[in-house]
Amino acid sequence: MSSPAQLIEGFARFRERHFAKDDALFRELVEQGQAPRILVVACCDARVDPALILDCAPGDLFVIRNVANLVPPAENQGHYHGTSAALEFGVRKLNVGHIVVLGHAHCGGIRTLLESDGQKEDMFLDEWMGIAAAAREQVNLEFSHADNAVRQRACEQQTILVSLDNLRTFPWIRERVEQGALALHGWYFDIERGELLGYNADTHLFERL
Ligand SMILES: [Zn+2]
Repeated sequence: MSSPAQLIEGFARFRERHFAKDDALFRELVEQGQAPRILVVACCDARVDPALILDCAPGDLFVIRNVANLVPPAENQGHYHGTSAALEFGVRKLNVGHIVVLGHAHCGGIRTLLESDGQKEDMFLDEWMGIAAAAREQVNLEFSHADNAVRQRACEQQTILVSLDNLRTFPWIRERVEQGALALHGWYFDIERGELLGYNADTHLFERL
């Protein structure tokens, strides 16, 4: 796919194969509205479309995508907060029962973070990736002698944990988690090995799901 014309052809195929076939599903989604039970925070990376890799149908997932699947801490300085607004919509309006932070291998955002020399050259990117600064510091401490591939993977996974911690700074998420109405999950898509890993809070490891 390299041109908008190919996307329009793709829509025609989607319409023919899915819209016609799943007419009842789409009618229901229109008449009853969306009611996804799962919210996914994923990366913008073109290779990690959550609905595609998790084989979901329209209406299954409420998806937030941003650079490096980051969740910022709850804060309100009167600025625009796209990710936080989408979290609020998913949790408070749609009442999702699960939030999955879906990280992935070979993340360009994480590479930018690890290679950053502290010079803030980008208009938005450096500040945004600063959300994961604690992950970088931990990896630099624990994996100071490891090669870049090991450090990258460790930072990608540690960043998922930072996002999980930040989710709990939103009062309406923390309350729901404490009440058992909402569960938080940290997953990692290994695009190189074709595996899906999940964080196990008991072992403190990402394990194959
Ligand atoms: Zn990424």
